[in-house]
Amino acid sequence: MTQQRKVALVTGASRGIGAAIAQQLIQDGFFVVGTATSESGAQKLTESFAEHGTGAVLDVREGEAIDALVSHIEQQYGSVLVLVNNAGITKDNLLLRMSEDDWDDILNIHLKAVYRLSKRVLKGMTKARFGRIINISSVVAHFANPGQANYSAAKAGIEAFSRSLAKEMGSRQITVNSVAPGFIATEMTDQLSEDVRKKMIDQVALNRLGEPQDIANAVSFLASDNASYITGTVLHVNGGLYMA
Ligand code: NAP
Repeated sequence: MTQQRKVALVTGASRGIGAAIAQQLIQDGFFVVGTATSESGAQKLTESFAEHGTGAVLDVREGEAIDALVSHIEQQYGSVLVLVNNAGITKDNLLLRMSEDDWDDILNIHLKAVYRLSKRVLKGMTKARFGRIINISSVVAHFANPGQANYSAAKAGIEAFSRSLAKEMGSRQITVNSVAPGFIATEMTDQLSEDVRKKMIDQVALNRLGEPQDIANAVSFLASDNASYITGTVLHVNGGLYMA
């Protein structure tokens, strides 16, 4: 059944930042398709979204799965008019010890997936003469963090990709922006030792970790009509850790 509401696709919506973004976009009136990597994760999303959206299984490393999912969404609900590329992991290591697999995995999950998903939804957005592509980057694209050469290269790539695409698609009223979170309290940062967490917090002007909702608020703004003249930019949400 085609939706009256605009359809938003949020990758990695099963937990952390993606879960907060999906819930916020539902509150904003979108029909949300949220992805998880497992059947059980997708099922939980379907249950929690109720009539406001649905869960779907997606591993963003799989090009054919991206095509199939977007085709399914288009047939069932309508074109994806808001795409939030959020799914991500870290595989940190000093470069001297970083395997090629860990390099490739991070570049594939972050940068290549953003290329594939963005390209796949552009046709529908072009037809609608409306689109919002919002890519979740990171402060480490700007602020050096040892052990994250793969991750920071991928995130910097996402921001440069977004600027280029913003120029290409602007005449169709499709905006492409990045949100660069600082240190946000999720399972990704839970993995860090107390000592590392304390050192991180000491560098933040607001002296605390951010919450997933802080990032969801930025995404909500960029997806809204209030942000219709903003494209190709990076919205930093980092509590004053890094000031652009
Ligand atoms: P998180 O709590 O670890 O959640 C990661 C999400 O990504 C999960 O929903 C997971 O799905 C999904 N995911 C992982 N691998 C995937 C794959 N191959 N295909 C599709 N989905 C996959 O992470 P988070 O902290 O919320 O991070 C979300 C985004 O914010 C990431 O892009 C991250 O780089 C960025 N970020 C986070 C921070 C931070 O401090 N937390 C800072 C800057 C940027 P399953 O649960 O189903 O596996």
